Amino acid sequence: MTAPAVRPYDELMDELAKAGAESLYLCYQCGMCSATCPWSEVRDVSVRKMLRLTQLGLGGLEGDFLWLCTTCRACVARCPRGVDIANVIRTTREFATAVGAEPGPLKTVRGHLATVQNPWGGKPEERSRWAEGLGVRPFEAGMDLLLFVGCTAAYDPRIRTVARALVRILDAAGVRFGILGNDEACCGDPALRIGDSALFRSLAERNGAMFRERGVERVVTISPHSLTVLKDEYPKLGASVEVEHYTQLLARLADEDRLRLRKDGEVRVTYHDPCYLGRYNGVYEEPRKVLESIPGVRLEEMERTRADSLCCGGGGGRIFLETPPGERFSDLRIAQAERAGAQVLCSACPYCILNLEDSSKTVATSPLPVRDVAEYVAERLA
Ligand code: SF4
Ligand code: SF4
Repeated sequence: MTAPAVRPYDELMDELAKAGAESLYLCYQCGMCSATCPWSEVRDVSVRKMLRLTQLGLGGLEGDFLWLCTTCRACVARCPRGVDIANVIRTTREFATAVGAEPGPLKTVRGHLATVQNPWGGKPEERSRWAEGLGVRPFEAGMDLLLFVGCTAAYDPRIRTVARALVRILDAAGVRFGILGNDEACCGDPALRIGDSALFRSLAERNGAMFRERGVERVVTISPHSLTVLKDEYPKLGASVEVEHYTQLLARLADEDRLRLRKDGEVRVTYHDPCYLGRYNGVYEEPRKVLESIPGVRLEEMERTRADSLCCGGGGGRIFLETPPGERFSDLRIAQAERAGAQVLCSACPYCILNLEDSSKTVATSPLPVRDVAEYVAERLA
């Protein structure tokens, strides 16, 4: 067994505190975080113990777990001392990426973000290809909002259908919107979560400059990850815009009776709360309201919903890393959806859809379609 790397205690704590992870000091070792962490369901890990070792400068977070954490904040929601564990981990990652100690696939992600401004390695000139044939216009002042598409909806063939579905809904509801097209860059979430805040800053500043140049005041995002950085991080860099997730907009459109939806039989639908929409932004009711506005839909709740939702396994850079069968949280979620009697599993985050759909194909005992809320609504447009 390798001996733990011992770092001077004061130096480590000073560094973490300066980098924003000072809440680590508050931990009194109750163990709630260990009990809540989804990794505890698939591995023998103790978040509590790792935090204690880190407090002591004994390298608790410098092992594998540093890159396993999905930054889901389930532990943060339960911690009685207000320790921002996800931020402690993110901050510790800054030290690791500074010396190139991140896993290989994340080095590739950082390289792609720096060169082509998206983590998937797509060509910048093909960023708006998803919108071909839809008549989506470039954003211009006077439009109702800018649709911030995000990299996964722009480049991933499965998630492009979500962006196309949302366009159909907004058009049907008479919303005047535009996109940045090939000028949109990654929102920066992957860079921030894997511990490269300088790269995050350069991407955020690029988008912020584009918002100013085009006169953007109001933004709607497809990804809850984009929502979180645009709302919480961009203002610190002088790029303040009014921002919301598309499910919030659709809930308002439903209230205003601007979504004309048809019935297609009686269907039991369950909804998976994405961590970055729920725990990070408190958006729990709006996606449910949208689904319930579809005639014939009956919402069935799974175990672990809202603030207690089980992470899909895709946040914090994990979507770019392989997770072996037997350790995929999304497999557990499929079993929970089946126990709830769902005929369709809906969610509202590109990473959740990718992970849940993969799991549905491999572990569901009978076919369980996985749909983004936007897709499910678009399928029912009258
Ligand atoms: S829940 Fe909070 S106080 Fe309890 S062990 Fe975890 S970090 Fe420490
Ligand atoms: S943020 Fe999520 S994955 Fe990370 S330690 Fe907390 S509960 Fe575990």
